[in-house]
Amino acid sequence: MSNAEASLEHLFRVFTMPEHHDSTLSRIEQHLSDNLSDFLSRHVVAKQTSLEEIEQDFNDPHLPVQPEFVSTHAEHLLTKLVTNSVNTYAPTFIGHMTSALPYFHLSLAKLLVGLNQNLVKIETSKAFTPLERQVLGMMHNLVFQQDDAFYSQHLHSAQHSLGAFCSGGTVANVTALWVARNAKLAAKPGFKGVSHAGLASAYQAYGINNLGLISSKRGHYSLGKAVDLLGIGRNNMLYASVDSHTLDPAEVLALGKAYQAQGNDLLAIVGVAGTTETGHVDPLDELADVAQELGCWFHVDAAWGGATLFSDTHRGLLKGIERADSVTLDAHKQMYVPMGAGMTLFKDPAISSAVRHHAQYILRKGSKDLGSTTLEGSRNGMAMMVYSSLHVLGKSGYELLIDQSIDKAKVFADMITAHPDFELITAPTLSLLTYRYNPAVIQACSGDSEAINEQLDKLTKAIQKKQREAGKSFVSRTRLSINRYENQCLTVFRVVIANPLTTVAHLAAILEEQAEIAQAHPLYVELLKAQECIIV
Ligand SMILES: *Cc1c(COP(=O)(O)O)cnc(C)c1O
Repeated sequence: MSNAEASLEHLFRVFTMPEHHDSTLSRIEQHLSDNLSDFLSRHVVAKQTSLEEIEQDFNDPHLPVQPEFVSTHAEHLLTKLVTNSVNTYAPTFIGHMTSALPYFHLSLAKLLVGLNQNLVKIETSKAFTPLERQVLGMMHNLVFQQDDAFYSQHLHSAQHSLGAFCSGGTVANVTALWVARNAKLAAKPGFKGVSHAGLASAYQAYGINNLGLISSKRGHYSLGKAVDLLGIGRNNMLYASVDSHTLDPAEVLALGKAYQAQGNDLLAIVGVAGTTETGHVDPLDELADVAQELGCWFHVDAAWGGATLFSDTHRGLLKGIERADSVTLDAHKQMYVPMGAGMTLFKDPAISSAVRHHAQYILRKGSKDLGSTTLEGSRNGMAMMVYSSLHVLGKSGYELLIDQSIDKAKVFADMITAHPDFELITAPTLSLLTYRYNPAVIQACSGDSEAINEQLDKLTKAIQKKQREAGKSFVSRTRLSINRYENQCLTVFRVVIANPLTTVAHLAAILEEQAEIAQAHPLYVELLKAQECIIV
């Protein structure tokens, strides 16, 4: 029997604890514990199923009319979905910022769902609200290092917020720039502020044509979404230092001044602490000076790199972050918390009142409801995961994790440099690096470098795809314009060392696998032929 009766009795059972614990549900739990115990030995993907094949399993647009037994449905999930998911826990999965999580998060996740708290208001969250405020305070402390008096004054104050917890770096960036926009185009005599009057009236009231935002072209794509959403417009996204990986403060200053001279004003300069593609850190301290001189907001997107602050050894790389008006952090990256844990932190605890919103049935004036200054409404208690991680790992635990990731990235970079057939493209500042396959014979060729690079691009792309399809390991790829190749755009492998369980031996094996794939590929022979190099 696979279909249940659509009876109230059945539905009631679905909402309550089953009398006999469902056997298929136990299998799901078993799968999860196996997943945690043997993921070290498993590949990135279990089966080499194509996406087209998988789509056939998810091809029916009709609503299921009759209820199913949970056991029937769970079976379906295990066979169709779970077997074809990606093993992000694999130590050979080194292409993205998503990685293995500490095992205790599985139990905490159950607790979170079991309690189903809603952080939008205290009436549905109670202790979770002060907990979230404390977490924001701890992270604020990590970045801005204020004294105890500062935190005791602001941590639980209804008029202040040290930050906003949200689902991720994207919403954190949008929130930061939303606050910046409303603070910039604030109410003044004769003008009710942009949040009431809208952008057109605001530009008129402030006598400006446009508001612009400066970042490097390595800035995250969420900044583009933010300026679009906030009405600033993507045309007013000004990219500085297009030829290098980090912002040049002098160039930012000149660009900002020229833009202001055309009757515009600047919303913000965004410095990145750990770019998504290469892990570079902008010169934050100098950018803070520039923002001051231009009279604009300074936002630091530290979604990936912010956790570097836990490390006394590497904290200095982010010098100047404490001068930012707002900082984005993603706990679901280098803090090893499940996805859905981003935050924006504000230097000025009063600034979030620029977006404060009240409603009669919730978020009443003077309440400590977190929903009055967050972009999102209903939100779960993810802050608990950050809170628990901070306790279980501690600052010194995080420090170790950060230090060993950066050390390993450096070892891998040395390995690539020492290998005759690979070329390091960007060395790691944090635990990210890029490289490509470039056989020694080709490196020794003095042919047309543009033509060679085009062929190497194709080969790099082909290797990356083959490696992903084989499913043993995963490295991502991107395209970067590179100075030493006269800013030609190159296709490169991108590696993020995030999983603490990735060893140097794993890294060596990944490199060898790539060399093998390359040498067996028709494009490799073509490359050697076209460049008239002799195969030895
Ligand atoms: C990951 C990342 C983001 C976006 O964060 P999400 O959590 O994916 O929304 C923004 N900026 C940087 C620098 C990032 O690394």
